[in-house]
Amino acid sequence: MNVAGLSIAGIQAGLKSRQFSAAELAGEALRFASEENPKTNAYLHLCPERAMETARRVDAELAAGRDPGPLAGVPVAVKDVIVTRGVRTTCGSKLLEKFVPPYDATAVVRLEQAGGVVVGKTNCDEFAMGSSNENSAFGPVRNPVALDRVPGGSSGGSAAVVAQGTAVVSLGSDTGGSIRQPASFCGVVGVPPTYGRVSAYGLVAFASSLDHIGPFSRNVADAATLLKVIAGRDDMDATSAAAPVQDYHAAMTGDLRGVRIGLPKEYFAGLESETGDRVHAAVDVLRKLGCEIVDISLPHTEYAISAYYIICTAEASSNLARYDGVRYTTRSSDAATLQDMYRHTRGEGFGAECKRRIMLGTYVLSHGYYDAYYLKAQRVRNLLTRDFQQAFEKVDAVVAPVSPFPAFKLGEKLADPLQMYLSDIYTITGDLAGIPCMSVPCGTTSAGLPVGMQILTRHFDEPGMFRVAHAYERAVTR
Ligand code: GLN
Repeated sequence: MNVAGLSIAGIQAGLKSRQFSAAELAGEALRFASEENPKTNAYLHLCPERAMETARRVDAELAAGRDPGPLAGVPVAVKDVIVTRGVRTTCGSKLLEKFVPPYDATAVVRLEQAGGVVVGKTNCDEFAMGSSNENSAFGPVRNPVALDRVPGGSSGGSAAVVAQGTAVVSLGSDTGGSIRQPASFCGVVGVPPTYGRVSAYGLVAFASSLDHIGPFSRNVADAATLLKVIAGRDDMDATSAAAPVQDYHAAMTGDLRGVRIGLPKEYFAGLESETGDRVHAAVDVLRKLGCEIVDISLPHTEYAISAYYIICTAEASSNLARYDGVRYTTRSSDAATLQDMYRHTRGEGFGAECKRRIMLGTYVLSHGYYDAYYLKAQRVRNLLTRDFQQAFEKVDAVVAPVSPFPAFKLGEKLADPLQMYLSDIYTITGDLAGIPCMSVPCGTTSAGLPVGMQILTRHFDEPGMFRVAHAYERAVTR
């Protein structure tokens, strides 16, 4: 059985025709994952007992003639910032090295109810802060496409396992690009939906007004299937939306005639590179499929990085205050007083990037600077959101690159955090506006490195986004 070549539809067909059982598939997926993982370090840990238990339940349902759900038997990997009951959840941090959550995130509950088999937890930047997966306390992830390169971040592990074939689909989280950028670097599909579309209950908080969960997959249809399962209102998360979950597959007609696609000039200026060429070539495909290509402007784009790194650090400084050595975390043994216990636990436990953000965030929220930085950044966020709203009066979708460059070499940007932040230029705008924005593979550079095209649509227009992505994918893989 070739786990690496399977799709959700292929698994459903295999189970129905009794080519394999869910337990056989889970066993093979776990074996393949432990064999391949040393190459990439993409999984932090596997959870064989839990996987086999779910798989056997699926087999029992099938044997009893019941429908185990749209993800029956599908091996799924989960980013280690999403909590799993009884299975360690480290957030890529030394502080939570031994943390075993007492509950499951809603997205995990839903995917298991649909028959999905959680096989393991994936590596990521510490508390999802980073763009290369090099901020993990448990070592970086290597890109399966080119092992000397980063897989992107922060959901680098979740992108790598899908690209490597050790999971069929996976869950990641996106705050400023952490699903799309690794998806583009590893050559897979990555989908951050509308903020609030998927419950964030059980997603460990980094920047709460931006954090959201979404799928990775090897094709557009699989991402749509997984998203449909995990989406929808959840009483455990007040920010989850009550809007009904649409039928994404029904939108994937292959017909793009008359669809208006906006190309924001701010995203293409200065992109004279192979990345730019690949995205332009993809736009030509969309044009041939009958799309009308319209030049647009998102004028406040240049302020996005500054606004994002103020808002996310402010929220992070508050969210990370809970790791104080009293709850959840390992505690420093080197402390005579309570103050020292806090200080040493946090000092020893957090990596450099988290400390940098806690300090910056504390500063921008401090009395006297709150108005000048935090409030101003929120105003800029409104302007960015309005840019998109105005664009969507003229076009149905916006198409842009995901990253200015393909996967870079391990260590290449580590010494310069500012360079790392600047690499998020094309992705953080979608998060600040809270709109759906997926990455679809659109070819490779001459060195064989994957490039991603970003498709952004109005709030809750996931159907429109999948429609464009699916038609494009079909046109180029046929
Ligand atoms: N690279 C961005 C950051 O470091 C985005 C991270 C994310 O989306 N979680 O904040």
